[in-house]
Amino acid sequence: MNPKKYLDRVPVGSELAVACQLACPGCRMPEGLEHEYGCTFEECPGCKKILIGCHCNCLSPADSEKIIKALHDQFANLAEAIKMVTAAGIKPDQNTSYLIHAAMQYLYENVPIAVQADLKRGFHESHPGLVPLLQDESGYGYYTAEQLSLALQIPLAEVNEKIDAMVEAGQGIRFGDGICLQKVN
Ligand SMILES: [Zn+2]
Ligand SMILES: [Zn+2]
Repeated sequence: MNPKKYLDRVPVGSELAVACQLACPGCRMPEGLEHEYGCTFEECPGCKKILIGCHCNCLSPADSEKIIKALHDQFANLAEAIKMVTAAGIKPDQNTSYLIHAAMQYLYENVPIAVQADLKRGFHESHPGLVPLLQDESGYGYYTAEQLSLALQIPLAEVNEKIDAMVEAGQGIRFGDGICLQKVN
């Protein structure tokens, strides 16, 4: 299998479909620089559509996580995030867009405990073999990178790369109530 190829972000002014001259009308970054993470005017280097809503997932994990983090931080309440996820619908044959990824993450973090249990069950149903291997003193269970690699059927190196990127972006890596992941080599 070939290593996955990541594409570079499209700087302000180099868009094909969106017109950003001199400065971005959204994030105000000048021509030639990269948009602020999560800017709604940034173009996808793959499909040329709006990056945060497209399904290419073609940026490096580090860039992807920073965009997801920025979008995540823009959600002000649960209703907004639910509306976003509901409106998008879930198509199993497509990658999740950065925006939906951020909304899902916001949901996981902010839903009431009772709903968290449902989400957790859903996660277990889609990945039945996955049982946390480790537990910290506050009772949180941790999955290892190896487990996630098997469950999600992606190479271990890619899992570790994603975790590194999440940690670097200062992003919480807890999913719902008591589901966490951790890099264990
Ligand atoms: Zn911008
Ligand atoms: Zn795209």
